[in-house]
Amino acid sequence: MAQYVIHGKKTCWCGLVWIRAMEVRLREARIIKKDLSGLIMQGGYNAGGVAASAGIHDKGGAFDFSEKLATPAFIKIARELGAAAWIRLESDDRPAPGKKPWDTHVHVILDGCPHAADGGKSQVLSYRAGKNGLTYDAADREWRPQVFRTWSQACAVYAGRRMVVTHPKGAPRRVSPNGKLTGSRVKKGAAVLVIAEKGKAFQIGSGRWVRKSKVRPIA
Ligand SMILES: [Zn+2]
Ligand SMILES: [Zn+2]
Repeated sequence: MAQYVIHGKKTCWCGLVWIRAMEVRLREARIIKKDLSGLIMQGGYNAGGVAASAGIHDKGGAFDFSEKLATPAFIKIARELGAAAWIRLESDDRPAPGKKPWDTHVHVILDGCPHAADGGKSQVLSYRAGKNGLTYDAADREWRPQVFRTWSQACAVYAGRRMVVTHPKGAPRRVSPNGKLTGSRVKKGAAVLVIAEKGKAFQIGSGRWVRKSKVRPIA
């Protein structure tokens, strides 16, 4: 599975595009000024990195965000963009005896990400069922959308400026886990989501700018 790096954290293709879509929405809501660098505490493909994560961050589609973003406004935007997202308070943790609880953070699993760990996919089901995604399965206490969408469906609706690269010549290249371009291109004809801002395609990861002539709006 190809891995990508965004703001120094590993993720899958879904995570890469979703973070850029989030940044567009968070800027509009004046929750961030520029981007999410320094605010992502954990991405994916981080097996053994954080014991309290119980394997959920071993694969793609998972993010933990800083306590600074643990607000209802952030959760609403993340959920509108198709993520199972919860504020995880210290008091939500049930650590083993003698262990410290986690620090307050936002935990996110992208709905519809095929690269997520099994535990993460179960959390999405828990989210859709109105629960908190933790082993003790408490009720969800956050804002909930009326219609649940996968992250890619949601990006189309809420970003409102979704574009699909139909002939991704000059489309972003894959980035290896160390952040270097591997040179392998996205498969020709692949439906690549590009969230444009103010009519301009933006740079994805360490890849290139996607040329405007190569994308078409589908909204
Ligand atoms: Zn997490
Ligand atoms: Zn994914």
